[in-house]
Amino acid sequence: MNKAREDKFTQARSALCKGEAGRTGDWRSVRPRIDHAKCIPSKNRRPSCFICWLYCPEGVVKRSIPVEIDLDYCKGCGICAEECPGKAIEMVEEHEEA
Ligand code: SF4
Ligand code: SF4
Repeated sequence: MNKAREDKFTQARSALCKGEAGRTGDWRSVRPRIDHAKCIPSKNRRPSCFICWLYCPEGVVKRSIPVEIDLDYCKGCGICAEECPGKAIEMVEEHEEA
């Protein structure tokens, strides 16, 4: 076995857990909206990209086609929109129609 791997402190051991901070209350001011016409997996009909899933600190993005976001737990931080290479995610005001 690799010497570095014997040290339990050298590897991340945490696992992503959805909604660790609990359900989002009514304080969220903006939420993500995905344009599936621009979203890479939807366009290519192939599991690819999923950068939003990788970066979401709440673990509420589902790696599916189409990509889904659990808005019950999404905190509206906007990291997914910032990191999306396809510019497929727009942060919209909470009161806007879905
Ligand atoms: S990062 Fe953007 S393009 Fe990539 S899967 Fe997510 S929404 Fe789609
Ligand atoms: S806005 Fe933040 S919490 Fe919501 S899906 Fe995007 S990265 Fe996750």
